[in-house]
Amino acid sequence: MARREFLSAASMATAGLMMSSVKANAEGCANGIRFGSNPDGVRMVVDLSENSAYNIFLLSNPSRVVLDLTDVTCNKATIEKDATGHVSDVRLGSGATGGGSRIVVDISSPLKVKKAFSLSPSGKFNWRLVVDLEKTSEADFAQLVGIGHAVSSMKDVNAVPKSQITTKPKEIEAAPVVATPPRKKKIILDPGHGGRDPGAIGYSGVYEKNITLAMGQELKKICERTGKYDVHLTRNSDHIVSLRGRVKKARELEGDLFISLHADSTKNKKVMGLSVYTLSENASDKEAGALADRENKADIIAGIDLGGETPEVAGILIDLAQRETMNRSAHFASLMVGEVQKAVRILKNTHRFAGFAVLKAPDIPSVLLEMGYLSNKTEEKLLRERSYRRKLANAVLTSIDDYFSAEQKASLF
Ligand SMILES: [Zn+2]
Repeated sequence: MARREFLSAASMATAGLMMSSVKANAEGCANGIRFGSNPDGVRMVVDLSENSAYNIFLLSNPSRVVLDLTDVTCNKATIEKDATGHVSDVRLGSGATGGGSRIVVDISSPLKVKKAFSLSPSGKFNWRLVVDLEKTSEADFAQLVGIGHAVSSMKDVNAVPKSQITTKPKEIEAAPVVATPPRKKKIILDPGHGGRDPGAIGYSGVYEKNITLAMGQELKKICERTGKYDVHLTRNSDHIVSLRGRVKKARELEGDLFISLHADSTKNKKVMGLSVYTLSENASDKEAGALADRENKADIIAGIDLGGETPEVAGILIDLAQRETMNRSAHFASLMVGEVQKAVRILKNTHRFAGFAVLKAPDIPSVLLEMGYLSNKTEEKLLRERSYRRKLANAVLTSIDDYFSAEQKASLF
């Protein structure tokens, strides 16, 4: 059921993309400008009636961020005030070259563009342009003034490192499009548990933490062999990493995909099969909810203080990009299910949803793979075999390839 729901959402998104390309010449409009808090600064979201090329740059005296939208022409928008205190005023005007529009954001402390990307229509939202502004020093700001960050079409683009920016546009003209250098996709693999926390204990006494690490290492090797991926493990030996630490590492590394690896255990020794989970505030069923509770206890078992975790996690959950990330996670999960079921035994309703703490990176599509039941004699034996893990890893790799090639195609619209 869950999977079917996702597929229809995916086809709706595709329809949205096609419609938008058909009416690309229609007059666009910036409908609203919103601000949200972000751990390192402020996030600005511009609601658009159309997808638009854009250019962003910084100006000084007074310090401001200028956003030129090439394809939208209106100069009226509902502006929601920034509660973080970074933005003192927002002004709208016509575009630098007569067409389009210009948004000038006055800032009260030095900020720089960390990331800017477009989001395609989803749910009640139309096109959105998201700009993450991050705190920086006065000196750094002064150096960055006038340097353009131009993007020609809808696609997720990471901030272009300064060294690779070749244009220094005049204030009047939009910068020519800066090509983003090809970059290997970064995959973060997260072997569950470790150290004092063994995770589930198997039929013959095998520890989940050892199976997850062995699988992580196997998958890393197989992915890196393709030459297409840069793969990092959240732990590469038998030690404790907090759930929050795992997410933090994935974000620091700017991962493109996050896969948490686990194996379950249950009282009913007959139960076997793999399942794939993505984040939801509401668990898809009782078992999924109970499993998330079990996995989220890892920090308590490991004696890590959870105090002070809630506000940030809550903040992250309301993050405006979370919805898009959850859709992409679900897309990846459905591709993964499609591939792994050709290779290994899976549970019924194998793609489920629950509130796993480790899946809460707001901007990285994340899934949790329960590779099977260690409480089942047969499955425990299989998971201990390297050849079985390799077979599973190859299936996961195929789904990773499918995911990134689908993303690539979507970005061509
Ligand atoms: Zn686990």
